[in-house]
Amino acid sequence: MGKFDKYKIDLKGIQAAAATYDYLLDSVFFADIDGPEVQKGRVQVHVIVKKTSHTYELTFQTEGIVWVPCDRCLDEIELPVSSTDTLIVKFGSEYAEEGENMIVIPAEEGEINVAWFMYEFIALSLPMKHVHGPGKCNKSMTGKLNKHLRTSSEDQEDPFGSDESILMEDDQQDGGDKTDPRWNELKKLLDNN
Ligand SMILES: [Zn+2]
Repeated sequence: MGKFDKYKIDLKGIQAAAATYDYLLDSVFFADIDGPEVQKGRVQVHVIVKKTSHTYELTFQTEGIVWVPCDRCLDEIELPVSSTDTLIVKFGSEYAEEGENMIVIPAEEGEINVAWFMYEFIALSLPMKHVHGPGKCNKSMTGKLNKHLRTSSEDQEDPFGSDESILMEDDQQDGGDKTDPRWNELKKLLDNN
C-alpha cells in the first residue's frame, strides 16, 4: 500500500447522496508530502462529498496547527489552521483542471486522491509572513544574527527596535566573546544546505 493510498476517495462507489471522510494529518503526512511550505503539523480534515447528477462537490473543513520556521529567527512558530475549501469533481475522458476549484478525472478510474489537495488548502490558508509576535523571537538567535551581519561587534545598537532591546535583558548571554551554542547549530544548518 502506498503512502497516500488511504487518501483515495472512491467517488464511483458512493451510493448515497452524501458521504463523509475524516483524516488526521500528522507530521508523518507532512514529511511524506514534502511540500515547500509546511513540514510539520497536526490537522484534522473533515471531507463531505455531495453527489449531484453530474458532479461531486467536495467540501474540506480543515482545523489544526502547523509549525513552520520563523522568517526572522528560524525558531519554530505555531500557526493555527482553519479553513473551508471546495473542490468540484467531474468525470471525463482524462485528467484536467477546469478553473481554480474544478477538476476532471477519468471516468473509468472514478476515484480521487485528496492528499495533495488537503496539503494545498492548508498551505494556501497560511499568512504570507511567518514571524513571531513583537519580542517573541529567539532573542539569542536574532542578537547573534545581528552581530554577525555587522562588521563591528562592539556596536550594541539593535536594528530591530527598542522592544527587542528591552527583552535582551533576560538573555543569559553576557555579550562576551563566547559563541552561543545555538549560533553554532545555525551555522551547521546553513553550511549543510
Ligand atoms: Zn522568530
